[in-house]
Parts: sequence; structure tokens; C-alpha cells
Amino acid sequence: MIPTKHDLEPCPYGCRRTVLVTITGRGRRLAVDPIPDERGNTAIWRDGPGTWRSRSLAGTDAMPLLSYEDRVMPHVATSPACHPAPPAPALPGLLAFTARPRSTRGRLPHPRRTR
Ligand SMILES: [Zn+2]
Repeated sequence: MIPTKHDLEPCPYGCRRTVLVTITGRGRRLAVDPIPDERGNTAIWRDGPGTWRSRSLAGTDAMPLLSYEDRVMPHVATSPACHPAPPAPALPGLLAFTARPRSTRGRLPHPRRTR
């Protein structure tokens, strides 16, 4: 099945081409070029509710292309300027929760028992 114009959206990386945004088996968004390409390593299909899904054909254990799927190229493979954003840096506040040696500075001394 070929995606229609309504299924396409502008490239999220800003190259002004239209792409098909699919959902991978892991629930991630993957932008692919909407025109089937024999060199592609990604299979796309539309599920019952109408969501475009994708899966990789690259692994040795990957199923071959099925009759209802089309072979396409991931958009980042055909548009060199469109790379996914690098992973976000760690949030500064999270360092406070990582394990570190406990400091005794600034603590009150234990009370001494007196008889
Ligand atoms: Zn792009």
C-alpha cells in the first residue's frame, strides 16, 4: 500500500521534503521516504486502525518482505542533513539522587548518654 498525501507530513528535521512517519515495533517514530525503493532496508505497512508501522529488514533473522508491505528507505539514509537529535544530556538535578559516599560534615554529633 502506498501512503497518500494525507499520510505525509513535513520532515521533522526541517529539510522541507515530505516524509511518512511510522511507528516501529518498539514504539518509536521513524520517518521514512514515502516512495518504495528496492534498496531500502525498512518494511512499512498500515495496520487496522490506520497507523503506519515499520520494521527493519536488515537483520539476519528479519522476516522477508510480506505481500502487504512495501520496502522503503529510512529518511535519514537519503537525506544526509536529517539526523536524529543526539540524546539529551542528563538532567542536572538527577545527580543529587545518584549513590555517593555519605558525608558526615554538617551533621550534629550523636548525643552522649550521661548517667
Ligand atoms: Zn529531512
